[in-house]
Amino acid sequence: NAKAAGERYAYYAPAMNAAHSVRLELENELRHALEARQFEVFYQPKVDLGSGRIVSAEALVRWRHPQRGLVAPAAFIPLAEEVGLIVPIGALVLDAVCVQQAEWIARQLEVVPVAVNLSAVQFKQGKLLQTIRDALERHGLEPQHISFELTESMVMGNPEEAAYNLKALKALGVQLALDDFGTGYSSLAYLQRFPFDYVKIDRSFIANVTSNPGDAAIVTAVIAMAHSLRLRVVAEGVETEGQLQFLRKRRCDEMQGYFFSPAVPAAAFEAMLREGTQL
Ligand code: C2E
Ligand code: CA
Ligand code: CA
Ligand code: CA
Repeated sequence: NAKAAGERYAYYAPAMNAAHSVRLELENELRHALEARQFEVFYQPKVDLGSGRIVSAEALVRWRHPQRGLVAPAAFIPLAEEVGLIVPIGALVLDAVCVQQAEWIARQLEVVPVAVNLSAVQFKQGKLLQTIRDALERHGLEPQHISFELTESMVMGNPEEAAYNLKALKALGVQLALDDFGTGYSSLAYLQRFPFDYVKIDRSFIANVTSNPGDAAIVTAVIAMAHSLRLRVVAEGVETEGQLQFLRKRRCDEMQGYFFSPAVPAAAFEAMLREGTQL
């Protein structure tokens, strides 16, 4: 049972007094990890609150380090973004997801769309569209097999340019989600000018939604406003029955979180799809 499993990771802690050399070492290790194919994609189901069924998944990268074990993305994505390694890592994640989807389809599994996280660095980089088109074509996939998650801060820095790029991305036929909503400073009304299909409410709002009236009010308002703008809403970080009931009552569309399942290896996610695991 994945529900209570949670996830445990090696703690990658650089010594404060050697921050610079540790960064260099981490950078070198990341380059090596790319060549040695030490990155793995885990899948976290997203569940429809109406039917209780798995309707999609989010791809979350992990680094299988030969000595340290499984390293969580927070320990290496920020540096990878700084030094540009997020571009090859991101391409690798996308490719791994496409390989997996193609394999599942070949084995007659009823697949669901898999959402891939995009970093600002990838988004600004000119080759992103071609990378995505190539990946889909190489693996014989349709755009509805893949979707993308982008954060507020990525689009708010330069809204005109972002709107242009998002429209081009959307024109590929993929679904787009606005990730971590609520952590930035933008309003949904403003974000409506971008072609998002989904809003994901950041888990910091979900965490105390049953105990903090302020968070409850925000989540209620975000769901209502998103719906009035014809956006679907995903709540992330749902860990308790109480949070689930709260979200159901307010007609949130989908949930994702440890209450249902953490991110799991591809084989475990496949088993959930096959068995029709329900909320
Ligand atoms: P995110 O996109 O907001 O992903 C959700 C994070 O919340 C994941 O952490 C997930 O494991 C965690 N989570 C899911 N349900 C729960 C829950 O019920 N409780 C709690 N406490 N946490 C939950 P993870 O996998 O460690 O990823 C952290 C961040 O790293 C992601 O945040 C995303 O920003 C980034 N990331 C992960 N994979 C990729 C990737 O392939 N590319 C890029 N650019 N960023 C990635
Ligand atoms: Ca995400
Ligand atoms: Ca998120
Ligand atoms: Ca988040």
